[in-house]
Amino acid sequence: AAGSLATRIDDAKPVLMVSSDAGMRNGKPVPYKHLVDEACKLAEFPPAKVLIVDRGLDKGFPKVEGRDVDYAELRARHLDAKVPVVWLESSEPSYILYTSGTTGKPKGVQRDTGGYTVALTASMKHIFTGGAGETMFSTSDIGWVVGHSYIIYGPLLAGMATIMYEGTPLRPDAGIWWQIVEKYKVTVMFSAPTAVRVLKKQDPAFLKKYDLSSLKHLFLAGEPLDETSHQWIMEELGIPVIDNYWQTETGWPMLAICRGVEDSPIKLGSPAFPVYGYDLRIFREDGTECGANEKGIVGIVPPLPPGCLSTVWGQDDRFVSTYFSLFTEPVVYSSSDWGIKDDKGYYTILGRMDDVINVAGHRLGTREIEEAVQTHPAIAEVAVVGVADELKGQMPMAFAVVKNAADVDTPEKRAALEKEVMKKVDESLGAIARPARVHFIGGLPKTRSGKMLRRSIQALAEGRDAGDLTTIDDPSTLEQIKAALKS
Ligand code: ATP
Ligand code: MG
Repeated sequence: AAGSLATRIDDAKPVLMVSSDAGMRNGKPVPYKHLVDEACKLAEFPPAKVLIVDRGLDKGFPKVEGRDVDYAELRARHLDAKVPVVWLESSEPSYILYTSGTTGKPKGVQRDTGGYTVALTASMKHIFTGGAGETMFSTSDIGWVVGHSYIIYGPLLAGMATIMYEGTPLRPDAGIWWQIVEKYKVTVMFSAPTAVRVLKKQDPAFLKKYDLSSLKHLFLAGEPLDETSHQWIMEELGIPVIDNYWQTETGWPMLAICRGVEDSPIKLGSPAFPVYGYDLRIFREDGTECGANEKGIVGIVPPLPPGCLSTVWGQDDRFVSTYFSLFTEPVVYSSSDWGIKDDKGYYTILGRMDDVINVAGHRLGTREIEEAVQTHPAIAEVAVVGVADELKGQMPMAFAVVKNAADVDTPEKRAALEKEVMKKVDESLGAIARPARVHFIGGLPKTRSGKMLRRSIQALAEGRDAGDLTTIDDPSTLEQIKAALKS
């Protein structure tokens, strides 16, 4: 959206911007250029030049005289130009990438060059185990950190071919990704839990239609991977599915199974162990370390390994206050995520710190309740938020998407399923965690990178405004939530 782009322009102060005329989504062109123009008008520090890659998708896109430069023309003019190598320090910034903004104003993560190269090269060998001549397919959006690290730099550093796919997993049908895997003999694939939950709602026959024998393993990251979905995708594909936990800030996985070093058994719903280089531990709020099976905050004892952010672009103070002010004795990097380590050393991420629900003095991670709801076979996807309650402080409320719409097409069926879901939660976590209501809706509000906008859901459930929605993928989901709440 123009507003989000303008905020980032003013933060980064670029001299040049690159855009295409339009992108493709669900088979339809989505014009971009007018958004770029709008953003440049809104911004205080617009770039002097905008380079346009004309894909021929939006025939009549607006042009700004003197500022816009046509890529094809420029390329033709400079085709034989010799550009000398410029030597830089390894600590020189390679890029700024804004975090998803799930928890507020996005932070401009500044990445170095040398450290990032070292980290990605090592991770290709030790985590993703992809080598020269093989093909990697990351289904991520290129604007997300997974896109930067594992569509572009990681596979290319490893000498792999990489696939960049523009589109949804459902078009022309739910077999498209697997068709790509067969066609290009993909060996390493990387996707997100949200995509698995989308596929779970489709006919599983699509997964059996293609020859997937080239595929060694599938990696998933970005959101908690619930046990039910983890098991489902692993059984359907018949290969290891590795959950890995990281942040835009780190640039590469913090928790994973390093199959290229030592293969370990997969624990469903757990991204396993700290990756080498990360002294990752679980801390109590007073800065002391948690014991096994005790919930706490995920932190990293510095120094951060290569690849992690060098600072927040242009805001060193914010770098310190955001990441290094929660624990100061000793200084620890705070991930702002809530997690737990079991007695075998497997970690589980329980949600973000501000997603913790406080019910009558009991602290529950939204993830734990979502996990319980998802054990019901009719449920494809669910978001749980804490809603203010006079008596108990907060009450969990669930918004669920069913696999089969016919399961909730009458008020009677909805009431019956709501009861069954509540029973599931009672069984696994106790009545204290039981959602006050389970609302059934057609889709959940997410960012473009597939992250649940829990803060917006919570705001609506508490009768407040949904807040900044510039990164939302499908705004109609909010209307569905409002309608469900009204009913
Ligand atoms: P912002 O920081 O602006 O709010 P964001 O945190 O959504 O945005 P990202 O850096 O893209 O932006 O997301 C990282 C977060 O995603 C992690 O801190 C964690 O909450 C979640 N996450 C990533 N991978 C996993 C995983 N495997 N399991 C559970 N949660 C995960
Ligand atoms: Mg974050």
